[in-house]
Amino acid sequence: MPKFIFVIGGVMFSVGKGIAVASIGKILQSKGFSVCMIKCDMYVNIDAGTIRPTEHGEVFVGKDGIEADQDLGNYERFTDIASTKDNYITTGQIYQTVIKKERNLEYGGEDVEVVPDIPNEIIRRIKESSLKNKSQITIIEIGGTVGEYQNLLFLEAARMMKFQHPKGVLFILVSYLPIPKKVGEMKTKPTQYASRSLNSAGIQADFILARGEKPLDRKRKEKLSIFCNMSVEDIISAPDVDSIYNIPINFEKENLGNKILKKFSLKPKKSNLDDWKQLVKKIKSLKKQVKIGIVGKYFATGDFVLADSYISVIEAIKHSSWFHKKKPKIYWLFSEKYEKNSSSLQELKKYDGIIVPGGFGSREVEGKIKAIEFCRKNKIPFLGLCLGMQLAVIEFARNVCKLKNAHSTEMSQNEKENVIDVMPEQKALLKEKKYGATMRLGDYPCQIKPNTTSFKAYRISDILERHRHRYELNNEFRGILEKKGLIMAGINPDRDLVEIIKIKNHPFFVATQFHPEFESRPLKPHPLFREFIKACIR
Ligand code: GLN
Repeated sequence: MPKFIFVIGGVMFSVGKGIAVASIGKILQSKGFSVCMIKCDMYVNIDAGTIRPTEHGEVFVGKDGIEADQDLGNYERFTDIASTKDNYITTGQIYQTVIKKERNLEYGGEDVEVVPDIPNEIIRRIKESSLKNKSQITIIEIGGTVGEYQNLLFLEAARMMKFQHPKGVLFILVSYLPIPKKVGEMKTKPTQYASRSLNSAGIQADFILARGEKPLDRKRKEKLSIFCNMSVEDIISAPDVDSIYNIPINFEKENLGNKILKKFSLKPKKSNLDDWKQLVKKIKSLKKQVKIGIVGKYFATGDFVLADSYISVIEAIKHSSWFHKKKPKIYWLFSEKYEKNSSSLQELKKYDGIIVPGGFGSREVEGKIKAIEFCRKNKIPFLGLCLGMQLAVIEFARNVCKLKNAHSTEMSQNEKENVIDVMPEQKALLKEKKYGATMRLGDYPCQIKPNTTSFKAYRISDILERHRHRYELNNEFRGILEKKGLIMAGINPDRDLVEIIKIKNHPFFVATQFHPEFESRPLKPHPLFREFIKACIR
């Protein structure tokens, strides 16, 4: 009988549930178990594809094209298991299925009720994913925080599953223990309340992962033990760390893996995290920096700067920098300022390399184009990702090919010089306002030309990479772009679409229509990022 672990957040958002799930997955995988991780998002959205990045963070794209929560990226980076639709459930998906079944008379004339029909559908989905992925232990992250309305039906599903399989289901509460500055002491009360809220949903936590700025001491573990109804050993200290890749190692210091196995009545097993331990040691020892600027617009929420929208890009930079024994220093560069004031472009010279990542809509596009032009002319290593490639093509068309009005159909209706255009089938979808899950999504093949930077990086010519875009390099302009020196370094063989561009006589100027960042792993940096960082260091 497969096992299930539900992970629930307490006290606040962003408490680190996703990393906890990824870390537990990593530990159990290293003990020889097959694992599957599922994120349950409480949104009514069918997927994350229609949510603004500053609202929800990066949209992570699975191999099969699922547009999901960024936590799936952490699951992948930790366990190297590719994500698919199986790993992502939203309230919207659940209701959509239940309503469809009702319309198809699949409830046989019964009235369809929120409880138990919605939790039953959640349970069915979880079990289906576990079975399909031949998972021995499935770890399910329930989005949000205990105590709010929105995730109640997921908690209800978890409670019902425990009732059905008392020996096969565990609960982990990931909670936050603040240290108010004025008090200077770690406080357990909010976590006690979180545990009580969980109790009122009919759930008793088996473990608490105590997140906080500092480690949790014995005295406070004892306090939580009494108030939360559990043994001291099951309260695991989870302090802030320099590198998230240290977290599985920290959990294992408290023997979390075997404690989980014991509760499932499974034999204890040794975990093997040696290569990760080496990596973490290496990260700590690095002194020399490599400075990378990301020119983007999805940083600001109110008065705070959040990097969540570009999390996979950031992690990919880190993996490659560590590979080259450098400490990455990442800078957020607001494209807006280059639009308003061209002289501020000079600051780009301070960085070893510049990335223009993906994006949507016309806001701040001109600032990014100026930054790309500056990198091209000043020989600053440049990597363009998706929109980054499209804008590099526009820049080249305007300034080298002298197509003054060059643009993308996404931003300009002046269709005469739109070097980035929309495919006919996409045009039809847009006309019908069918926006959700209709972009070019997920894995598509690309053939790399020999003797290019990309070929040197990948060392093979046939690759598969993940996509998320609606617009493409317009093949009508390929001739003139190539004549003026733009190299089409990678092509999708099925549709003859340009996937990678580069220019000559530049230390590194490569841009991709796909998103290589999703495939980078801490111990297996993505080839293109690896070569980019190498050029930056040079
Ligand atoms: N907005 C562009 C498109 O839809 C680029 C998308 C992206 O950067 N992910 O084609």
